Amino acid sequence: MSGSGQVEHSTPRFAQVALPVHLRKLFTYRLPSSMQTAAQVGSRVVVRLGNKPMTGYIVALLPKLRAGTSLIEAELKEVEDLLDLEASLTPDVIELTRWVADYYAAPLGEVMRAALPAGINTSIMQVVSITERGRNALSVTSASADGSDLTPAKARALQILAEEGEAEVHAFSLRMGSTRIPKWLRELESDGLIERAYRTRTTATRAKRQRLLKLANPANREKRTDAQQRAIATLEANNGPMVATELINAAQISLSVIATLKKHGLVEEFEEALRRDPLARAELPKTEELTLTSAQADALETIESAITEQKFSTLLLHGVTGSGKTEIYIRAMRAALESGRGAMMLVPEIALTPILSRRLRAHFGDQIAIFHSSLSRGERFDEWSRLRTGEARVVLGTRSAVFAPVENLGLIVIDEEQDASYRQEESPFYNARDTAIVRAQRASATVVLGSATPSLESFHNAQTGKYRYLSLPSRIGERSLAAAGLIDMRAEFARQKNPVVFSEQVLAAIAETKAKGEQSIVLLNRRGYSSFILCRSCGESIMCPNCEVTLTYHRGDRTLICHYCNHHQRAPSQCPVCASKYIYYVGEGTEQIEEMLHKRFPQLRIGRIDRDTKSRRREFEKTLLDFEKGDLDLLVGTQMLAKGHDFPNVTFVGVISVDAGLALPDFRAAERTFQLVTQVAGRAGRGDRPGKVLIQTYHPHHYALRHAVAQDYHGFYNEEIRHRRNHQYPPFVALALLLTRHSDANRAFEIAQQLRKALVESDTERSCRILGPAPAPLARLRNEFRFHVLVKSRSRKQMRAVIDLALATLENGGHDLRPVTLEIDPISMM
Ligand code: ADP
Ligand code: ZN
Ligand code: ZN
Repeated sequence: MSGSGQVEHSTPRFAQVALPVHLRKLFTYRLPSSMQTAAQVGSRVVVRLGNKPMTGYIVALLPKLRAGTSLIEAELKEVEDLLDLEASLTPDVIELTRWVADYYAAPLGEVMRAALPAGINTSIMQVVSITERGRNALSVTSASADGSDLTPAKARALQILAEEGEAEVHAFSLRMGSTRIPKWLRELESDGLIERAYRTRTTATRAKRQRLLKLANPANREKRTDAQQRAIATLEANNGPMVATELINAAQISLSVIATLKKHGLVEEFEEALRRDPLARAELPKTEELTLTSAQADALETIESAITEQKFSTLLLHGVTGSGKTEIYIRAMRAALESGRGAMMLVPEIALTPILSRRLRAHFGDQIAIFHSSLSRGERFDEWSRLRTGEARVVLGTRSAVFAPVENLGLIVIDEEQDASYRQEESPFYNARDTAIVRAQRASATVVLGSATPSLESFHNAQTGKYRYLSLPSRIGERSLAAAGLIDMRAEFARQKNPVVFSEQVLAAIAETKAKGEQSIVLLNRRGYSSFILCRSCGESIMCPNCEVTLTYHRGDRTLICHYCNHHQRAPSQCPVCASKYIYYVGEGTEQIEEMLHKRFPQLRIGRIDRDTKSRRREFEKTLLDFEKGDLDLLVGTQMLAKGHDFPNVTFVGVISVDAGLALPDFRAAERTFQLVTQVAGRAGRGDRPGKVLIQTYHPHHYALRHAVAQDYHGFYNEEIRHRRNHQYPPFVALALLLTRHSDANRAFEIAQQLRKALVESDTERSCRILGPAPAPLARLRNEFRFHVLVKSRSRKQMRAVIDLALATLENGGHDLRPVTLEIDPISMM
C-alpha cells in the first residue's frame, strides 16, 4: 500500500458512464489526469455522446480497459467535466437504480437522473485560476509581440485571471462570450497555464446572502426573442426565484439575456439569505402528546417490534379515514430514529398538503427533509443536501423521494399506497411503492403501507400472508363515518325536465351546512371552466389538433387548452367547421361550478383547488390554509381534494359526477371510483359533528358505488377480485404494455403487428397471452397514432424473458424500436 507505484497502478483511467438516453448500454470514457483521483462511482460527469454534451453518472472506474473489449483507447472521448466532489449517488441508491432499470426495462442513466433532484447542478462550483506557468507565459507575451503562441482570447483570459484571481468557470466562459466552456480554455488547462478546481458550495457560501432573479411583469411577452421567452418560462415553471447560474443552465441562455430582461423590467433581482427552506416562514402547529387508542397502540407495537427486529417485513395498515394512521406513522418514524436508523415517508403527489408538511416539521424539526413537486430547484437541492450530509435523517416526499439518500434506513411509510401517482407516467416508468419495498428489503427495513382503501394487489398480499395485516376499524373518538348517499340523476332529470348540474339535495345540503356554521367541499373530476365546446349547428366539438381529445375551455384567460399536450389556442367566436355563431359550452369545470355556486349563494365564501391553481403554489397553499382556518365556507375542487386532508369542520361533501371515471376503458376503473368515493366520504365529519356525503350519478346500481357509500371495503374487494380472477388481471397475472407511436397510423399499426409476431414466436412455451394490436384508448396523442399490445402471464419471469427475446430479435433484424415504449406493471391503460 505504501509504494507510490502501486497507487499509480490502481489509479482509474477510464470511467464507465450511464447516460440518460434511450439506449440500454453503458458508455466508456477516458478520465483526464486532473480527474483521476477525484472521480468516484456515483459522481456526475459531463461527457459527449456524438457531439452532444450531457450529464452522465459514473457507475464504474477502471484502471484499464476490460480484457476482450472491442473498445480502442485512442478512440475514446475524454470526460469533459466532473460535477461532484462527493458522489451524488450513494451505494444504496446506485443499487436501487440498478434494480429499477432492470425490473422496469429502463435505461440506467434515465433512472439515475430521476433519482437526483432537478437543479442539482447548482451545487458544484468549478473555478479556474492562473498558474505560475501561466503568469510566465503572460509576461513573455506582453514583452514581445510575437514571442508566444497565445491567441488573443487566451491572452485576455490569462490577463483577467492574473488580475482578478479565481473565477467561476461558467461565468468566466460567459464573460468571454461563450455559453460553453470554450476549447481554448481547456487547452490553457492542458498546457498547464491555468488550473481548474472543483468547489462544493460550502456552508460558508450558504450563510451568505445571494442575489436572486424573479419575474417582475409577466405581461407583454409577444415581442421577446426565443431565448428571452425560455428564460421567462423557466422562471415561471420554477415556482420561485432562481440564481443567475441556475437560470442560465436551465434555460440554456446567456447572461446578456438576463441583462436585457432586467433592463426591460421583466425580471427583477433581489437579495435573500441562502438556505432555501420550503417552510422557512411557516407557522408550525403545536405537537400535543395524544394518548393512543388501543387499536392504534396495537398497530404501533407491531410496527415497532418489526423495526427492532431489523428484518425486512411489510405491513398493511388498513385504517378507515380518520382512524389515526398519521399519528402512527409519526410515532413509528420516531421509533426508527431512536433506534439510530433513518426513516422515509412517501405520499401521493396531490396529497402532500402544506398541513402535513408543517405537522411533520413540528415533530421532527431540522431532522426532516421535505420534497414535493412544487419546491423550487434551490429548495429541493438544499433539502436533498441535508439528507446527503446526514444533517437530516427523515424524508417526507412524493414519488422520487424513494431515491433520497437516507442513511441506514429503518422504516418506510407509504401513505395512500394505492395511489396512481406513485407510478411515473413517463420513462423511466417505475412505481415508487414497489421500488420502496425493494429498497426496504435490501436495507432490512420495515415497510408500512397505509390506506383506507388498499389496492387490490396489496390487500390480496395481506390475505395470502405475504404482508402482515393491521387494521384500524373505527374513527378516533368513535366518530361515525359520514352518512353517504347516491343521488340518481336520471330521476332528477325526469323531475326537473332539464339536465341540471346540482340536484336539489346537494344545494339544500350546502345551504344547511352554511347555516350551521360548518364547511362544505364540492368535488368534480374535471378542471377548467367548461369541459369542451360544441357547435349547436353542426354538432362538432373543438378537438386538439394533435390529440384525439377535446380541448378544455379556461375562462380566466379565454383559452382552449389540451390537457395532454398543452396545446393552447384562443377560444373561437364562431365554429371553426361551419362558421356558425351558436357555440355552446358543454359540461362543467371547476371554474364554472364555482361561479354557479357564487350566483346561487352570494354570501358563501368559496375557494377553488385544482391543477390550474396548483401550479401557482402560494395561492394553492393559501386557499388550503384559509379553508383550514375557517376563512372559507366551501371549497370546490378536483379529486386532489379527496385525499389526505384533514379539515375537522367539514361536514358536507358533494360529488358532482363520478360517471366519467366509471366509464374509462381501464380494468382499474371500478377500483379507482370505489377509492375516490370512499376517500371523499372520509373528508366529511372528521371533527365532532357527523358528516354527510352525496354523490350524483347516472349509474346508482354500480357495485363500486354501492359498496363505496356503504363504506364496505370487504364487499367491494370480494366482488372485484372475482372479476380480476375471471378476466385474468392483476394480481393474478403480471402485465406488460407495449405501446407503438407514429405520426403515420399505418406505420404505428405495422410496428405493433411486428411486435405481436415477434412476441408470439418468442413464446415457445406458451406462457403468455398476447393481446392486440389494438388502438389505444387515447388513439392519437401529440400528433402520433398509438397502438397497444398487451402481454399477460402467470409467470413474471417468463413474461420478461419472452419480451426481451422479442425485442432483441427485432433489434437484431434491423427494426427501429424507437417508436416502442415498454411498460412493466402499467397503471394507466390509456
Ligand atoms: P388518518 O391518517 O387515519 O386519516 P389522522 O391520523 O389524520 O387519521 O387522525 C385523524 C384525527 O384524529 C386527527 O385530527 C388527529 O390529530 C386525531 N387523532 C389521532 N390519534 C388520536 C388519538 N389517539 N387521540 C385523539 N385524537 C387523535
Ligand atoms: Zn393535445
Ligand atoms: Zn359548426
